[in-house]
Amino acid sequence: MADIDVQARLAALREQYGLRLSNDLQTLMSQSREVSTRQSAVDFESLDVLRQGLHRIAGSAGSFGYAALSRDARELEIGLQAAIEGANPPTPSMLTALHDRLQACYRALESPKLSEVGEPQGSYHLASGDRAIRVAVLADGDTETLIQSLSGFGYECRQLTDILGPHRGGTTWHPDIAIVDTAKVADEVWKPAVEEVPQAALIMLSAESGFEPRLKAVRHGAMGFFVHPVDVPSLEHRLRHLVNLPQQDPYRVLIVDDDVELAEHFRLTLKMSGIESRVINDPHDVLQGLREFIPDLVLIDINMPGCSGPELARIIRFDDDWLKIPLIYLSAESDAHLQAQALAQAGDDFLVKPISDVGLVAAVTARAQRSRQLSLALARDGLTGLIKHPAIKELIELEMARGQRTDTAACVVMIDIDRFKSINDTYGHGTGDYVIRLLANLLRQRLRRVDHVGRYGGEEFVAVLPSCSLENAREAIERIRVSFSELECVAATETFHATFSAGVSSTHQWPNAETLLEAADRAMYEAKQGGRDQTRIAVPPS
Ligand code: GH3
Ligand code: MG
Ligand code: MG
Repeated sequence: MADIDVQARLAALREQYGLRLSNDLQTLMSQSREVSTRQSAVDFESLDVLRQGLHRIAGSAGSFGYAALSRDARELEIGLQAAIEGANPPTPSMLTALHDRLQACYRALESPKLSEVGEPQGSYHLASGDRAIRVAVLADGDTETLIQSLSGFGYECRQLTDILGPHRGGTTWHPDIAIVDTAKVADEVWKPAVEEVPQAALIMLSAESGFEPRLKAVRHGAMGFFVHPVDVPSLEHRLRHLVNLPQQDPYRVLIVDDDVELAEHFRLTLKMSGIESRVINDPHDVLQGLREFIPDLVLIDINMPGCSGPELARIIRFDDDWLKIPLIYLSAESDAHLQAQALAQAGDDFLVKPISDVGLVAAVTARAQRSRQLSLALARDGLTGLIKHPAIKELIELEMARGQRTDTAACVVMIDIDRFKSINDTYGHGTGDYVIRLLANLLRQRLRRVDHVGRYGGEEFVAVLPSCSLENAREAIERIRVSFSELECVAATETFHATFSAGVSSTHQWPNAETLLEAADRAMYEAKQGGRDQTRIAVPPS
């Protein structure tokens, strides 16, 4: 989604919220008028209804640009709270004063000071948001090879010369990145070509590796510099970096708040900073939301009808799967004692509403980062960044248990690069490592976000695909197998192709992680015997 759309939706939400606020204040005014004019003893139930209404405004108004109103509502709420707790009925004059202040708030609504809360800052350009990243290549000679390699990773590649020139008229194909091979293309050719695509980040390829060529690249505004032979995994890594694709997936936040507009406002604000979130308005839907969305952290409102935030946090903590996810209360509750009480029940931290957009993003980012780091402590492999052997076994067990609960099948895929020993022997161990990284990147890029990929051994990988049928798993791996076999692997003096063999097994057919892995391994071995470069499905003995 383009930033402009998000901005428009935020503005629409603000407008919608303004209307709601106006309604809410009118309701509160008539409620307070009724309480204050009642001759009989003040009824505490009505006072509490009033308090709840004020609480709602205190917690949300600040996020929509009504900071002063939010403060006023908070003050009135605290006053009422004291009266209710002390069972100390407010005097008629206090109630009249309350009504008058509400009326003043209502009038002030007519001139909202939207600037009081910071607009979301540092909007985040995710070039791949809705489309593939576009790469224009000007490399003469091996342009095709490079285009083919990058296309294999899902980039949309074209020759830079094809998108320029007279026939270009009105084209909408604007590259995000331009790769220019200065070793093959003369300065007089590439310089004017690059000037035609000023929005594209420039990457230079060079035959020389010294300081001078790098300085030249910098002076031409290059954002990346690679020496022949180009290490494709590193180039791909740089492309991701340049288009602001996070090296890791965006942080994921589950927002649980019964206030529909406020929750949507939080979601859009986080989105502007590249944080993905999903909103749950009814606490009953939280467990399903967790399973489907697998967030890095959960933001929970304290006061929700039917189930309080702390109750919900305890429910979430019943489930071992979510023990590592921080539960952060985001609430209008400013009373330190009540906050401590909530935290004592469950939950990890407290953010107080109203919270500015910048404050929300900063707080969420810091906590999500920490959460990621912790779960990454599930040791990663140094060469590929993939999950290591012991952790992947743990994950298989986790997915098996999840699959049993939700009655869905997960698949395990064992992948082994073909005749890898001869790649090492022919091109050297360094090139062997390069092929391993190439396949690791491809698997990470092509599998779904919910899938797990691990490096099982030297040139062996394991993928775990939750909620996936055998047939779908086979198809997915087959597509990756074909892409991999088509990727050009670059050695010092030549290029070559590598292939892999794969075996797939399903949790439907094998009782535990051990047998599941063995079955996938056997199927992979059958693929090897069947001639390699193919995928086999594990069939249980009948
Ligand atoms: P097959 O098609 O039957 O799988 O044959 P293969 O040669 O791939 O299988 P084999 O298991 O005989 O050889 C795997 C080789 O992988 C042996 C080992 O030296 C090499 N290897 C293991 N780990 C690494 C690594 O991290 N980097 C490199 N470059 N080579 C590795
Ligand atoms: Mg092997
Ligand atoms: Mg092998």
